[in-house]
Amino acid sequence: MTKCLSELGEFEAIRRLAQIVDPHADMLGDDCAIFADIAGVELAVSSDSMVEGVHFRLETIPADALGWKLYASTISDLAAMGAVPLGLLVAVQVPEDYSVEMLEGIYRGLKEASAIFGGRVVGGDVTRSNTPAFCATAFGVCRGKAVRRSGAQIGDDVWVSGTIGLSAAGLGVLEGQFDFGPADNKLAVEQHRRPHARVKLGQELAERKLATSMIDVSDGLIQDAGHIAEMSRRTLQLSLNDIPTPAFEGHQGFDLVHAISGGEDYELLFTASAKLRADVAQLTESQMVDGVALTRIGTVREASAAKVLVVDASGAELEVGQWLQDLGGRGGFEHFS
Ligand SMILES: [Mg+2]
Repeated sequence: MTKCLSELGEFEAIRRLAQIVDPHADMLGDDCAIFADIAGVELAVSSDSMVEGVHFRLETIPADALGWKLYASTISDLAAMGAVPLGLLVAVQVPEDYSVEMLEGIYRGLKEASAIFGGRVVGGDVTRSNTPAFCATAFGVCRGKAVRRSGAQIGDDVWVSGTIGLSAAGLGVLEGQFDFGPADNKLAVEQHRRPHARVKLGQELAERKLATSMIDVSDGLIQDAGHIAEMSRRTLQLSLNDIPTPAFEGHQGFDLVHAISGGEDYELLFTASAKLRADVAQLTESQMVDGVALTRIGTVREASAAKVLVVDASGAELEVGQWLQDLGGRGGFEHFS
């Protein structure tokens, strides 16, 4: 019997397709594919798509912000491996009556983001389609070794950059679900529309060999922590109290579950040896790399199974799926399911 994608879910679908191309490869493994040792460097490549009606609606995002977001979200996968951005190819699929002004706006946003995060748009393709969709492929190089998701060691600290949940809050504001007042609404919406890729931070963590594993938070903190746990075959124990969520958490029904399952934060989640805690802290205290704070939110533990545990305010330790289920929440974003 023929199965449809919704029965498989996004991750199982990718796994199956990857098996066809190369039974030994693990395409789900990292944020980028790494071509090792090309003229002495590692080349990092990643692609990302934004489809109207799936990733964005024109009512909630202006054209230039759309371009910015496409650039930042694609480059964020390079940041997650510690790569320096080189360039981006953009494939545009739009109906024939699509507004030229809109397209130009998107490209202005791409250009603006490239000036901030590095690299540039070097080419691509424009083709006709019923549904507007924009696909970007980013190329970068690692000056040192690429940081993979699989390197977390027992006893490592778990760190995250920035604030988790602002983007989800911003989307909620745009959809009329939350209202935090003019200033906080503006902050959250801006973060949702124009996220920042932590390119310099990723490079510092890689080049100084501080991070043992790393991922960017695109699907939601909990789900992305699960990817590190799975690839490293370790248990990640996260302290819910320590997760840096927006100051307006607890207002208007916006809670911790929204913050850590919402996604599109594009902050970096990484593990680092506890012995290097002071060195990591220095990145946030004296150097403020990328102008962003780093917060220690947990520990890597021995694994009977690769999983994420959370410690709640009362000190109780729960398997994250159980915790979310008790609260009626979701674990993160997965296409097709
Ligand atoms: Mg990613």
